[in-house]
Amino acid sequence: MEEIKTSNFIEEIINKDLASGKVKKVYTRFPPEPNGYLHIGHAKSLCLNFGIKQKYDGKCNLRFDDTNPVKEDEEYVESIKEDIKWLGFKWDKLLFASDYFDLMFDYAVKLIKKGKAYVCDMSAEEISKNRGTLTEAGKESPYRNRSVEENLDLFMRMKNGEFKDGEKVLRAKIDMASPNMNMRDPVIYRIVHASHHNTGDKWCVYPMYDLAHPLEDAIEGITHSICTLEFEDHRPLYDWVVRECECECQPQQIEFARLNITDTVMSKRFLKRLVDEKTVEGWDDPRMPTICGIRRRGYPASAVKDFCERIGVAKANSEVEFAYLESIVREHLNRDADRVMAVTNPIKVIITNYTGSEVLQIENNPNKEEKTYRNVSFSAELYIDGSDFMVSPPPKYHRLYKGASVRLKGAYIITCNDVVFDKDGNVKELLCTYVPESKSGNDTSGLKVKGVVQWVDANNHTKVTLRRFKPLLGLNNGETDYINRVDKNSMRQETALAEKALDNAQIEDKFQFMRIGYFVKDKLSTKDNAVFNEIVGLKDSFNKTNC
Ligand code: ATP
Ligand code: MG
Repeated sequence: MEEIKTSNFIEEIINKDLASGKVKKVYTRFPPEPNGYLHIGHAKSLCLNFGIKQKYDGKCNLRFDDTNPVKEDEEYVESIKEDIKWLGFKWDKLLFASDYFDLMFDYAVKLIKKGKAYVCDMSAEEISKNRGTLTEAGKESPYRNRSVEENLDLFMRMKNGEFKDGEKVLRAKIDMASPNMNMRDPVIYRIVHASHHNTGDKWCVYPMYDLAHPLEDAIEGITHSICTLEFEDHRPLYDWVVRECECECQPQQIEFARLNITDTVMSKRFLKRLVDEKTVEGWDDPRMPTICGIRRRGYPASAVKDFCERIGVAKANSEVEFAYLESIVREHLNRDADRVMAVTNPIKVIITNYTGSEVLQIENNPNKEEKTYRNVSFSAELYIDGSDFMVSPPPKYHRLYKGASVRLKGAYIITCNDVVFDKDGNVKELLCTYVPESKSGNDTSGLKVKGVVQWVDANNHTKVTLRRFKPLLGLNNGETDYINRVDKNSMRQETALAEKALDNAQIEDKFQFMRIGYFVKDKLSTKDNAVFNEIVGLKDSFNKTNC
């Protein structure tokens, strides 16, 4: 087989395995626990596992690791599927660890029969107390040497519901003096009297992660089981399980560094708390680092994948700046998003020498090779953005003031001749004249102006609500509980007037509101009020030379 160029240490391992013939076809899996929504960290794991599938023409399963009946829920299963589809990945098989409960039980029985597992009556507390420390061996359980028959009998009775939660556990019989704490007779099955989202009340014993995960991988024929660094110390146990259970397939676990992003908390537990306490609108609040949150925020799936690709895969933990993700999002939007005009704090402009109205054709996106245009209506009454006019401008101000000229984007050059104030002294309207020969695309006026401003037709526009955001977590003030860092004012709303063409926008359509920022149409929009979320601002302050 022709060698594939690698881009990280995992691919190097895969290449070696293919070259040596140890592996014929690469098989990976993405194994989320359905106890919350996926976040950007999961996107990295998804890109890695599905990326390998694509690169090596292999396979990748989506497997729900649903071995804990208490925290899991159908809602999470559905959301996870939806998020993966949105990222554009296709799983080969959709599986649930709980589908293997019978098989796993049989494997546990096999371990008992081999003298490799025993039923222990100690409480969780006692087990932990007897585990020893990094410098001190653990103490063997008084139940460690029960006979195979007794263990089999007790394990069956555990399964049959004869004992209460925590009364008994099944432990692997390995080595209480092992320098690796995970090998000191870990618990592999426990009693939980709870209904399971998939198997209902069929079971009251459930396998622990350390038994379940290697078995799931082996049953599915996974060749490379990729997980995050905190499982490195569990690898000897992973290998022990597949060896002692005599699984036909012997998958190998490979660890990589999880994605950490500055000032971003990705723990499902924390995110769930924000949702449960109604600190945010829900799991898909545009300020959340969840996949559905960043989707609603308007981050394109292509940008999220590009980000995961560009940060690479490492063996050592590090932190990536949030601004880097934003910068890649901006890059994609600059390339792909159509431009539209919108104004905030509108000021009326009356063009005194213009009569009637016309429809201008304005280019949608200067960065696209294939040019497309939209219709924008123009008349003698327009609105410009409140920030584009000043009564007393500072030096070098290139926008509008009395006596100054600017170009109206895609239209004409205008000159402000007079300012009308209301009785409170606020600017009511600007009286301007336009230069007929200065029409964009056909300008024969010979005039040069420095300022270009956006505008909307006062008689033909649409009113929209803009939602603009700051990071959900405020500045790091040394608070250890992140909930105390949540910025209650991290979302603010304002209204804007926008081109009529926006009425045709669909939910999730993304635009550059010229000179304001990138925005996406939100699901809260109604027929009379379109809501747009700010995706990112226009300015990129991130220094990519460090990446
Ligand atoms: P959390 O700690 O946020 O609850 P988790 O690790 O418990 O996440 P799982 O549902 O078990 O969540 O994760 C599914 C897969 O995604 C696992 O293989 C896990 O290692 C990986 N993963 C989770 N968080 C990250 C992260 N920040 N970066 C990279 N991979 C991650
Ligand atoms: Mg986990």
